[in-house]
Order: sequence, then C-alpha cells, then structure tokens
Amino acid sequence: YPGYAKTIQGPWLMEQMKEQAKMVGVELIEDHINKADLSKSPFKVIGDSKQIYSADSLIISTGAQARWLGIDSEEKFKGHGISACATCDGFFFKDKEVVVIGGGNTAVEEALYLTNFASEVTLIHRRDSLRSDKILQNRLLKSPKIKILWNKKVIEFFGSKNPISLEKIILEDTINHKHSELPVSGVFIAIGHNPATSLFVNKLNMDKENYIITKPDSTETSIEGVFAAGDVKDKIYRQAITAAGMGCMAALEAEKYLAELD
Ligand code: NAP
Repeated sequence: YPGYAKTIQGPWLMEQMKEQAKMVGVELIEDHINKADLSKSPFKVIGDSKQIYSADSLIISTGAQARWLGIDSEEKFKGHGISACATCDGFFFKDKEVVVIGGGNTAVEEALYLTNFASEVTLIHRRDSLRSDKILQNRLLKSPKIKILWNKKVIEFFGSKNPISLEKIILEDTINHKHSELPVSGVFIAIGHNPATSLFVNKLNMDKENYIITKPDSTETSIEGVFAAGDVKDKIYRQAITAAGMGCMAALEAEKYLAELD
C-alpha cells in the first residue's frame, strides 16, 4: 500500500477500507461460517446465524493465526512487548534488546531482520539444533548482533502494569530444568502459524500443514470456481500487502469465471 507519513491505527485503516468497499457497492455481512458445502455449484456456506449463503463462486481468505506459547502472562503483554511479526513491530524496538523464540526458518529470518533495529537479538530455542535452512543458519551465526541460547524455553513474562510494558522473561533449561531470567524489551514468538482451513479439510487440496494449494500464478483451488487468497494459501510472505494483492487476483479470476458461466 501507499503508506502514511504519520502513524495511523490499524482499526482506523480497517474502518476506512470497509467504508470504501461499501461506497463501491459491496454488501458486508458479519457472520461466523461453521459449515461449507463445496460438493456442487452453487456452493453453500452456513453461518452461526443459521443463514445459508449460496454462491456461484467463492473466494476463501480466512487467513492464518500465529502460534503462541500459551502461557497466561503472554496474553498480558501481547502488543506491549510481545509480538508474532517482526516486519510489523520490529521498528518499535529500535536500539533495544529483543528475543526471538523458535528454531525454524521464520525465527531465523525474524532474528536477522530485527538486527536492522535492535541493539542485540537473542534467539532462544528449545533444542540444541535449528531446523531452518543451512544458508539462513550461516547468516545467523555470522551476525555479530545475534546470540543464541540453546535448550531453553520461556516459562513466564514479567513487566510493569502502568503502562503495560515487558521487562524480563524467566527461562527454563530443557535439560537440567534450572531457571534463569533475562531482561528484555521485546519478544517475538516465531514458532509457526496455523492456517484457518478446518472448514475445508478433505474438500480442497492442501499441503501437509493444511495451507490451501492453488494453481501456479493463480488463486484457483482444486475446485473450479473456488479461489483462495492471502495467508490461507501463503506461508512465506504473510503481509497485508501481499494478501491484498492476492485478493485482487482472486477477484479478477472469480469475475472471469462468472463471465464464462452461461
Ligand atoms: P516451523 O518450521 O514449524 O518451526 C517452528 C519452530 O518453533 C521449530 O524450531 C520448533 O521447535 C519451535 N517451536 C514450536 N512450538 C514451540 C513451543 N511451544 N515452544 C518453543 N518452540 C517451539 O515454522 P516456521 O519457521 O514458521 O516455518 C513454517 C514453514 O514455512 C516451513 O515449511 C518453513 O520452511 C517455511 N518458511 C520458509 C521460509 C523461506 O523459505 N525463506 C521462511 C519462513 C518460513 P522444534 O524445532 O524443536 O520442533
């Protein structure tokens, strides 16, 4: 997107997008879909409201959710020192010490990216070897700003209440179970994502992590007339701008599909 020179708030941006969509004639319905029948066209999806929505074409853009550690204190500091997206929040930790949790490609990429802002980045992994690609590991090990803590897991987050701000984490050694603490301003949880595709399992082709598979250079799924856009089919970029771009592709493809129907 074109950006804003002055900081804006996410909810405001969402409100603007909603108003713009309405202005060009889009009907917006708020409902939680709990069932989908894609066995024949027109497709049918059913909401919690019991309303049945019928459509000749369907664009799935249910997104993905970051996995969290699931510790009670994690909830308190989400958005106040704990994040699951370095690209979104890294800038707020300029010249501060931050931690990245995880040992996969995402964790290593996030750690490398954060060296652009943070004064020091500590990668914390629960084992003694990373599962990320070798090339990324080499870049990680070469970075003078990154240190790695092996065999450690976070068991508690601590900080101030007013304003809410993260100050330290308690770690447990996964081998000798000893506890230690680490002062830190920011923690980036990078332990993977779950695509929101449970409604479509066994109905659409998916990869082993249940991301929807689309045809190359297209948003077409394994069912004609059903398209997928955004994080529900993308585990690499996961940005609002890439998701919106795919949304545009899906809209164009759905329009073409509908035009070709009798
Ligand atoms: P991932 O490969 O599943 O790695 C998740 C990491 O988090 C693992 O190291 C795992 O530890 C750790 N973890 C999981 N649950 C944890 C918990 N509760 N506490 C502490 N650590 C935990 O996820 P990802 O890195 O997000 O990658 C997902 C997929 O996207 C992969 O296929 C990846 O290759 C791909 N990807 C590719 C690129 C690229 O090609 N540049 C970039 C990003 C992602 P263990 O190792 O002990 O299981």
